[in-house]
Amino acid sequence: MALSVWSSARYVFPLPEGHRFPVAKYALLREAVIAEEIVPAERVHDPDRAGEEALALVHTRDYLRRFREGALDAAELRLLGFPWSEALVERSYRAVGGTIAAARHALATGVAMNLAGGTHHAFPDHGEGFCVFNDVAVAIRLLRDERRLRRAAVIDLDVHQGNGTHAIFAGDPDVFTFSMHGGRNYPFHKVAGTLDVELADGTGDEEYLALLAEALPRVLTAAAPDLVVYIAGADPHERDRLGRLALTFDGLARRDAMVLDACREVGIPVAVTIGGGYGRRIEDTVHAHLRTVRVAARHASS
Ligand SMILES: [Zn+2]
Repeated sequence: MALSVWSSARYVFPLPEGHRFPVAKYALLREAVIAEEIVPAERVHDPDRAGEEALALVHTRDYLRRFREGALDAAELRLLGFPWSEALVERSYRAVGGTIAAARHALATGVAMNLAGGTHHAFPDHGEGFCVFNDVAVAIRLLRDERRLRRAAVIDLDVHQGNGTHAIFAGDPDVFTFSMHGGRNYPFHKVAGTLDVELADGTGDEEYLALLAEALPRVLTAAAPDLVVYIAGADPHERDRLGRLALTFDGLARRDAMVLDACREVGIPVAVTIGGGYGRRIEDTVHAHLRTVRVAARHASS
């Protein structure tokens, strides 16, 4: 079966000139996925906005209301890293909707992908590090609420630690949070997940993949999840401005295949989100994400 992905023209929002968040990557990625026929155009779906009740399974009503109304204060916006706009609100609700839809579809078909999401620095009562809402946590809590799953695992291979996700699921025996990230990178105050693997600056393909190969079976055995949500960050790439690691494009693609293969071996569906990516050239970031889509597409159709 062909891969289904979720992506919206509304994933883009205005940023001041020179802002380091590569907001253009969402449109570029969608265009490339269609132009290179990785996914048939009719399987590129526009997500609905996530519902307020779904978001409230993770986020406080106060934070939701103040964000929606543009009432966050200057310190909160600084921590988030974005100026507020109506378009940012729209994007944030749609991006969570994309991860929810991809997770639902993965449960039905084995794999699906949101061409956004993985905003793992968002906490219940605030956003930080370019993350407004924790899409992964909302999708897991919602599907669990609907009794579509009982146990879940988050495999977070963005180069930054998923501190928000870890805080949200701390003490929850039914959600296993696994993160492999730069030990000396942001966030500088880390929140322990179920399993954290810290990487030294400059870690390259072979060492990275060996550590992942060792961790994955342990994660899947201990978690025994009904669903894996995978954050396939592009920022471990060697030319990423913020990553401090040295993975090649091939190394990242082998990483993605390793995760999807490990899950398939034990029959666990996977919802993929793209996570971060801050290449010196935005083309590099888009290319890395595109390779992830290719791996997922091959996985869906084989
Ligand atoms: Zn990141």
